[in-house]
Amino acid sequence: METISSENVLAWLGACAAAMAENRDYLIDLDAAIGDADHGANMDRGFKAVLDKLPGLAGSDIGAILKAAGMTLVSTVGGAGGPLYGTFFLQAGMRTAGKSELSLTDWTDALQAAVEGVRQRGKAVAGDKTMLDALLPAVQALQYAQESQTALPLALRESAEAARQGMQATIPLVARKGRASYLGERSAGHQDPGATSSYLILKAAADTWSE
Ligand code: ADP
Ligand code: MG
Repeated sequence: METISSENVLAWLGACAAAMAENRDYLIDLDAAIGDADHGANMDRGFKAVLDKLPGLAGSDIGAILKAAGMTLVSTVGGAGGPLYGTFFLQAGMRTAGKSELSLTDWTDALQAAVEGVRQRGKAVAGDKTMLDALLPAVQALQYAQESQTALPLALRESAEAARQGMQATIPLVARKGRASYLGERSAGHQDPGATSSYLILKAAADTWSE
């Protein structure tokens, strides 16, 4: 695969919904340890709502699909994740407005804008033990892959792998943002739920678009 089509984006969102359903309890357990145990339910509810919207989005351009996903997530996810993931997809949608196909460069720009939106909205920085600790390395890996003219499927794998490593690297961190920050030092030793859902979203992209 050399480019990402509108149909591919719809398939990715469907794969995200499947991943959130499959990992609902896992995300709940992670959030139970350092938060309020709702992250899995929040993400599963939000992506189920996105899944319901997908048939009506067939034939739309990629920007419109991603914006619709973002608006749906804002109104259904709740918690800290709702506005942040809403912003993620809305910003990606603005960056891809009118496009029906994305090159690796287009996808890199879209993900960069999405993550920048999360950063501005949540005011977290790298190492705060949030979803950004998975997202920032994923963008970096993608930018590096794009600059070194890596083929799209491998670039997506590398960005998902960077997110996985970033997710695992949240374990020893002390949370400085969100509900987990109330625990202070006691938040160390647990993997961040939002970094985990972010990894799942990028893994779904790599799995869906890697053939
Ligand atoms: P809540 O904390 O309101 O219960 P969720 O459980 O759905 O919301 O989401 C928690 C996740 O949100 C955290 O694991 C973290 O990754 C992410 N998060 C919280 N605050 C921020 C922030 N300011 N910036 C980025 N991500 C954040
Ligand atoms: Mg929570």
